[in-house]
Amino acid sequence: MKKYILLSVLSTLTILLSYSCNSTKDSSSYKSNSQKPTNIILMIGDGMSTPQVYAAMLTSENTTSFERFPITGLVKTYSKSHKITDSAAGGTAIATGHKTNNGMIGMNSDSIPVPSILETLSEKGMKTGVIATSYITHATPASFVAKNINRNNYEEIAMDFAKSDKVDLLIGGGKKHFTERKDGINLIKKMTSEGWNYYDTLINTDVNEDKIMILASDGHLPSYPSRGEFLPDATVLALENLSKSKSGFFLMVEGSQIDFAAHDSDSTYLVNEMHDFDNTINKVLDFAEKDGNTLVIVTADHETGGLTMIDPNGSYTETSFKFSTGSHSPLLVPIFAFGPGSENFSGIMDNTDIIKTILKTL
Ligand code: MG
Ligand code: ZN
Repeated sequence: MKKYILLSVLSTLTILLSYSCNSTKDSSSYKSNSQKPTNIILMIGDGMSTPQVYAAMLTSENTTSFERFPITGLVKTYSKSHKITDSAAGGTAIATGHKTNNGMIGMNSDSIPVPSILETLSEKGMKTGVIATSYITHATPASFVAKNINRNNYEEIAMDFAKSDKVDLLIGGGKKHFTERKDGINLIKKMTSEGWNYYDTLINTDVNEDKIMILASDGHLPSYPSRGEFLPDATVLALENLSKSKSGFFLMVEGSQIDFAAHDSDSTYLVNEMHDFDNTINKVLDFAEKDGNTLVIVTADHETGGLTMIDPNGSYTETSFKFSTGSHSPLLVPIFAFGPGSENFSGIMDNTDIIKTILKTL
């Protein structure tokens, strides 16, 4: 029933007209105080290729955040083991610059742990944070902090989070992997005894604290809009906290459930998740515009759903969503860049080039 959203020719025309009135994208829209960025914000729409981005555009009343980026490119996503990547190998490629086998987290294909950009930048003295609307231990966020041969070893991955001295802020779900464990250890107790400040909601969080973990759900967060403005609010909280750092920060923000929606072939869920991610990107761009020293990268680990838009009647007048698979596809994914260093992200690249290019801009 939810498989198709029919859009009238009229609304499509209105959107097209509003594009032509808003063509003010040029690289002068950010203050380039220096050529090198101080802060890096990497945003990953899990399962988000151009059909998902266009789905947001077709159903948005306003110009989307994606249209605020001066630089766009395309990214190849295949993994070491498969033509089609999963989120573990895709996240690991983006986080570490190494192609690996599907299912593996933070390791190369020889099962050797490799450093993530979060770890490398933490060692340079930058503050670091990770935000997701899934388990914080799920493949994408895990790729930046954990090392494991199997993405499903959630309790081992939670232990890696607890042991990491490289991450300063964690916001997401997956509390059960920290508290309801086979080894009986309460990782939240262990972390708070070692200096972490733990909260189970965004509200009442003291943004001046140094190490903050917010696990707002036992499992994944609810879907949007049931979870409210959790993702944009968490992101604004993180920016307020991390931007106190004198030596810059690295923040990864994931729109985790775009992928879940596409696996379900649920276009209403997909469009809602895309609007939530779009809204979050707008908050990040507002920060980056004011700051002038922040490089913002938005990309994806892979496409999910084999999503396309068709007119079921072949009359070129309707755009109806059609999912061609309940799994992932090998489609190129887009990359959007804004801020100092953004000019390096145009053209066609491999997912392993993203981190290498970010590190080159610093
Ligand atoms: Mg993910
Ligand atoms: Zn998936």
